[in-house]
Amino acid sequence: MSSDFSKVKAVKDYKNTDMTKIKMDTLCAMEKHSKENGSAHILPINASSAFSYNSLEASIEVFTGQQEGFVYGRYGNPTITAVENKLAAMEALNLEDDLYCTLTSSGMSAIATLLISQLKAGDRIITQYNLYGGTTELLKSILSKQGIHISFCDLEDLDGLEKKLIAEKNVKLIYFESPSNPTLNCLDIKSLVDLAKKYGIDTVMDNTFCTPYLQRGIEMGIDFIIYSTTKFLNGHGNALTGAIICKNEAEQKSIWNHMKLLGSNCNPFDAWLLHNGIKTLPLRMDKHCSNAMALAEFLESRDEVLKVNYPGLNSNKYHKLATRQMDHFGAMLSFELKGGLEAAKKFMNACQLATITSTLGNVDTLLLHPATSSHLNIDPEIRKANGITDGLVRVSVGIENIGDIKADFKRALE
Ligand SMILES: *Cc1c(COP(=O)(O)O)cnc(C)c1O
Repeated sequence: MSSDFSKVKAVKDYKNTDMTKIKMDTLCAMEKHSKENGSAHILPINASSAFSYNSLEASIEVFTGQQEGFVYGRYGNPTITAVENKLAAMEALNLEDDLYCTLTSSGMSAIATLLISQLKAGDRIITQYNLYGGTTELLKSILSKQGIHISFCDLEDLDGLEKKLIAEKNVKLIYFESPSNPTLNCLDIKSLVDLAKKYGIDTVMDNTFCTPYLQRGIEMGIDFIIYSTTKFLNGHGNALTGAIICKNEAEQKSIWNHMKLLGSNCNPFDAWLLHNGIKTLPLRMDKHCSNAMALAEFLESRDEVLKVNYPGLNSNKYHKLATRQMDHFGAMLSFELKGGLEAAKKFMNACQLATITSTLGNVDTLLLHPATSSHLNIDPEIRKANGITDGLVRVSVGIENIGDIKADFKRALE
């Protein structure tokens, strides 16, 4: 059944036009799903669990891959394919070649589907301590039970990593986030990729915080990109979706096959909401980033605050690196209050505009206390060693008026 699969790679819709030099904001705004005369201008939601044929001959042609067409909703759906093509085209903006995208039911299912497709019992994956909490748990409590070995290490220490790559057997993947959650540490992506390539190891980056608008990892040599498209790509907090980007047809086929058999497929309505969100991604991200910069500077000036983690700040350890590999510094920041858990409670309870919630990437400003939520199940010692202290508050800075956000934070700090 190569038929559904062959549809998923048609980034050509966007790129093989005489508009090869279009910019990201143009690409995001485009409605370019396949159209016939008089059909819907806006991508329709194909709410159908299966697709039908006029004859057995036509069915055979689709099933054997001689004709393009859809078969069954878990394998592929025209709405989902259109969104996959758009995301693949965004990631491939500055590349000559097509990329491939598979949408999944959530960011976690994208991570699980990719890792299961790439790893088998006996293989080893090397990753960092400060990952999205769910990813750490997936590795520790599910993949390790399947006989996959996991090494957590400091990926900023490339010499230490190289020693590990020499010492450890069967290392198949290096998995990372940059900037990472919740302390916004950045990794030197190009150097990390070069080191991995030297030892023939593939790299995976979760690029959820940046989106392709701010950072495109395939351009830097990364093999697989993961998105929780639930976050900034959707932008409105109304659907759960995930995405896996890869570079070649063989990888895509394997990922698609795993998605199909694990049943980790996206649903057409959530894919459609994602498609809607993507149209305004560049507008939203510009405002998110400028607001985050202003809020970071404000927090840095306050006596109640011990430390602000935001790569856009001159004082930030990762500022130069982030300037090199990101187009802007993003909407995520975290800051440490001097008074620990009590101060975090007081501050978060006093905010009237910003909301306490366990997500990020919406248009409104969101607060999270990592030590008692997303990182609750991480060993407290490891938590502390990675800067996830009891006084740490994570902020997903929204697109509200920056004066209003600052006023809310000022009042809550006081
Ligand atoms: C939210 C998130 C995930 C998980 O995505 P879901 O869509 O919630 O499954 C993975 N990685 C990062 C960085 C995230 O923020």
